[in-house]
Amino acid sequence: MKDLRHLYYFENLLQEANNDLVRQAQAEGRVAVGSVCALIPEVLLSLPGCFPARLRAPRTGSMEMGTYYMTSLTCECCRALLERALEGGYSFLDCLVAPDACAQMNRCVENIDLLKLCDKEKFFVSYADVPMKSDETALRHYVRQMRLRVLEPLRDTFGIDVSDAALRKAVESHNETCRLVTAIGEYRKEERPRITGYEFHVLCTATYCCPKDLLLDKLRETLEELATREPDPKGKYRARVVMVGSEIDNPELIKITEEAGALVVADRFCFGSFPGRQEIVLSGDEDVLTQVCRRYLAWGQCPRFMDTAKINERKAYVDALAKEFRADGIIYEQMKFCDYWGYERPVASHIMREEFGWPVLSVDVPYVVGSNAQLRTRVQAFVESVEIKKIQAEVAR
Ligand code: SF4
Ligand code: SF4
Repeated sequence: MKDLRHLYYFENLLQEANNDLVRQAQAEGRVAVGSVCALIPEVLLSLPGCFPARLRAPRTGSMEMGTYYMTSLTCECCRALLERALEGGYSFLDCLVAPDACAQMNRCVENIDLLKLCDKEKFFVSYADVPMKSDETALRHYVRQMRLRVLEPLRDTFGIDVSDAALRKAVESHNETCRLVTAIGEYRKEERPRITGYEFHVLCTATYCCPKDLLLDKLRETLEELATREPDPKGKYRARVVMVGSEIDNPELIKITEEAGALVVADRFCFGSFPGRQEIVLSGDEDVLTQVCRRYLAWGQCPRFMDTAKINERKAYVDALAKEFRADGIIYEQMKFCDYWGYERPVASHIMREEFGWPVLSVDVPYVVGSNAQLRTRVQAFVESVEIKKIQAEVAR
């Protein structure tokens, strides 16, 4: 396919945490709120006057200092973020909001806090307790925590308007980005998709780590461009897959998968679009914060939710995605040493294969993707096994 006009622009934005758009927003006086997990609703950090910057550590090389503070047995994503913080890579942040969701990420954030790695005068770190269930009691707790640990500190420290009217504005603006990303992602359903998984995830990842409103023009133009884009010829990719798992903040992982023959047509990982880029539809008869929190609890697909309903829902969700996007198989990935996905990945891989009948590849991946020959080989072998199954099914018919 011909290169997307703005792909290089989006790729460049992913080269630095403190990228051009972050600097532009801060120059306009907006507050940069660092975030580390999907369980703090992004939309609460998108109130007029501030914007969320989901932390990434692009171009990570050594993680020696991060490992020194956190040991070599902790999640590589957390160590890479700490390493970047130690290098001064997040000194642009005005504050950092973290949920008590993942203990490893909390250790990372605590180190950033205790070592005073972000040194702006008003800088603060706020921790919020987030529920592991999604019932009404959990919702009440979630709403209270978001008010106490997110909205009030933003209001008291930076004078951010956290009223219902301001939240409604933030939701409207967030929804605009979601509509565009969803419309772009819909093209992945086509028999010959006119956008690759890599291209889609470059755009999608940018919406997590840049002020979203500053991306709208380029997203709109990309959507227009896709309407007439000529797709790759049939047969360029030998299988269609859904990628499921923990943080993938580097679209290079998707690129390697596609170079090995598996087109990534749908996603279910943090920094992806399912869930995360769906519109929040508000009603007029309940406060906005409660409605936002209810949406996030209902959408949540993180293995941290441990009630049976959510555990079952996660498998059904992936099954539905795979069907909707006409996948041939599923790839479960897990960041090395991630606890939550360390149990979700083997169990879900088994269930999706044995009970739902999907071909499944299960891999753990390092934070620094590099050329990853091992992953490439495993994807190639998986693609071949999917092809053999298809031939066998045709012969049996
Ligand atoms: S996998 Fe769960 S705990 Fe980890 S960042 Fe995503 S939502 Fe947060
Ligand atoms: S990959 Fe796993 S261990 Fe690492 S931050 Fe995410 S949830 Fe935590």
